[in-house]
Amino acid sequence: MPNIAYLGLGAIGRPMAARLAHAEGVQLAVWNRTASTASAFAAEHGARHAATPAEAARGADVVITCLPVSADVAALLDGPDGLLAGMTRGGLLMDCTSGDPATSRRIAARLAEQGIGFIDAPVSGGTSGAENGTLTVMIGGDAELFERVQPVLVHCARKVVHCGPVGAGDAVKAMNNALLAINVWSTGEALVALSKLGVRAETALDVINASSGRSNASMNLFPERVLTRAFPRTFRLALLDKDVKIAAQISDELQVDAPLIHLASQLFGAAHESLGEEADHVEAVRVIERSAAQEIV
Ligand code: NDP
Repeated sequence: MPNIAYLGLGAIGRPMAARLAHAEGVQLAVWNRTASTASAFAAEHGARHAATPAEAARGADVVITCLPVSADVAALLDGPDGLLAGMTRGGLLMDCTSGDPATSRRIAARLAEQGIGFIDAPVSGGTSGAENGTLTVMIGGDAELFERVQPVLVHCARKVVHCGPVGAGDAVKAMNNALLAINVWSTGEALVALSKLGVRAETALDVINASSGRSNASMNLFPERVLTRAFPRTFRLALLDKDVKIAAQISDELQVDAPLIHLASQLFGAAHESLGEEADHVEAVRVIERSAAQEIV
């Protein structure tokens, strides 16, 4: 089993890294911007706490990053404490950030100058998928590098798909999340209207989830998070806003008219602004409820 470095112990990174820490034979080093998070993780899971990205990467066969945006990963590369100071020729950076294809391509080109491989490997399945090792991982990059990360991902994922060259994983992830956003918003509109009409949301979902309007939002997110009013904070609205913006940008670059994705981008941008940095993505329905003066009941 390889030596692994994991950088970015957030909502997804922490449970992914925890599974790797407990995988047989894995030597894990961790780094986090807020050092106390990494030292607490290292103490709890028996990993090595690295003070800098360079120190984490030294001796690692695979370096994994999981940060909010691709630009955060690019910013970790350079300088005496940067990843490139610790990685050597033949090394591999697997970026699990839900990133943007253009920045991933730039990172890949920069690493290639030093003989280091790069794959974009965003994940889907939420914090519960990360905890249970049942994530779906979508990979962009060389087939040989895709094969090299299988022994690592076997501990984290139920499904790993090679989507194409560098950036393809990011693009699939952004489009998947644009669909998630559209489903959350449209299901919210439908249930606010039906609640106002006097049809209980539970009754409406009983029908919808046995009919053609169903989605992961209607089948799981709304019953578990909205009808219960629990709104657990697992995936920040700010990050979904970022994903839908990436999807809109990809459509524009390819000259694909995508009015629905652009509208979702505007709606989630406004919801993000109104609800703040810490709100969960499903809380976007609060915006629909407020403007209709009607809760989903
Ligand atoms: P969080 O906000 O929970 O964690 C972000 C992590 O990145 C923290 O470790 C944070 O460090 C670190 N970080 C933030 N900014 C910087 C920076 N400028 N430089 C270095 N480190 C930084 O995010 P998530 O774990 O939820 O998301 C990470 C990625 O995974 C995102 O791209 C997201 O879209 C994606 N994702 C998230 C899912 C989810 O359910 N949460 C599901 C699928 C994908 P610090 O502790 O110092 O704040």
